[in-house]
Amino acid sequence: MRWFYRCPACGRTYPIEPGRYLCDDCAAEQRPDEPLRGVLECAWEGEVSAQTSVPLPVEDRFFPPIPVGQTPLWAPEGLRAELGLPKLWLKDDTCNPSGSYKDRASWLVAAFARKFGIQEVVLASTGNAASSMACVGAAAGIKIRVYVPKSAPIAKRVQILQYGAELVEVDGTYDLAFDQSLAYSRATGMLSRNTAYNPLTIEGKKTASFEIARDLGKAEGRMGAHGRATAQPAVPGYLAPDHVFVPTGDGVIIAGVIRGFEDLLRLGRIDRMPTVWAAQAEGSSAIARALETGVFEPRPSSTIADSISVDVPRNGYFALDRLRRHSGRAVVVNDGDILAAQRYLSRTSGLFAEPSSACAFAGFLKVKGELDPNARVVVMLTGSGLKDIKSAAKAVGLAV
Ligand SMILES: *Cc1c(COP(=O)(O)O)cnc(C)c1O
Repeated sequence: MRWFYRCPACGRTYPIEPGRYLCDDCAAEQRPDEPLRGVLECAWEGEVSAQTSVPLPVEDRFFPPIPVGQTPLWAPEGLRAELGLPKLWLKDDTCNPSGSYKDRASWLVAAFARKFGIQEVVLASTGNAASSMACVGAAAGIKIRVYVPKSAPIAKRVQILQYGAELVEVDGTYDLAFDQSLAYSRATGMLSRNTAYNPLTIEGKKTASFEIARDLGKAEGRMGAHGRATAQPAVPGYLAPDHVFVPTGDGVIIAGVIRGFEDLLRLGRIDRMPTVWAAQAEGSSAIARALETGVFEPRPSSTIADSISVDVPRNGYFALDRLRRHSGRAVVVNDGDILAAQRYLSRTSGLFAEPSSACAFAGFLKVKGELDPNARVVVMLTGSGLKDIKSAAKAVGLAV
């Protein structure tokens, strides 16, 4: 198979090589206070062998020795019974090495850096992408420099330093950190892992979709899609979910998840796309609003869910395009819903997730009445609850 970058907006293609981030033509149209223009997708053509578990643009041998992904898909019996949804599943990405979904992207970026002998990776982050790149970079032997708002939860900043990365605390928002980190990588030529800006951050995040389809196939395939002994999944071993709930800030995870299901469909491993839901916090809901109105208007963000708090969603145009192509939906919840859902999930399932992830669960709870009770529903739990103790402590009445 052959890999290349393609601009989803204009169709222009580029080789996948160091120094290439955005589409030159479309990025030239960039205006301030809007999502990035010219975000590229990883595209492939040619044959994919049946042995390839997930087609990725970097060869296996370059991936660093750290167990990213292959996270568990929980079957929460108590919750299923309580909610009347016997096929509810929880994708537990809190189990990644640094405790968040971001490791999937960092892993691919680290593999790319190793392939091309790149010594240093730089990025801006609200905390998780930085702690993730620091973690995976430590395993890969790559120097990591991160720009993070001073206000990032302490656990995430501690992680960054524990893993030996260089931490630049920015006196301002994530958006300022983004600009500062880009200025640094442009000046030094170091590899940027800024989310959406580096197309590998999107592609790396598709791996969870492959795991979900495979694990659903394993769990349900033998019994058939609706519990009948005779039914067979489209390809033995794989099954598409009906709904997937994704906590959404910049829109990179959701775009990656959709990319994964697109690949699975193209490879004939599943027979239809799931409905992918962007779950957003009321105080940071740009993608949900744009799905309705078609335009992105900047609005200062404010939510307890720091990992999905963005003024301008960097991957907004790409994510919106993908959501529209596949009839994606959006659901918006407030901070009270998020904290209540976080606690409810913890005490009914045993899974303690950070507020951003709880947003996906809260979004699911909000619309569950609209879902077919027999639907296969997957909620993506993207970050560990221990990453942000302050808000969780508030919800259980502890002073910290
Ligand atoms: C980054 C992050 C998200 C949101 O991902 P986007 O790509 O910004 O939409 C959700 N949950 C967690 C835990 C994250 O770290």
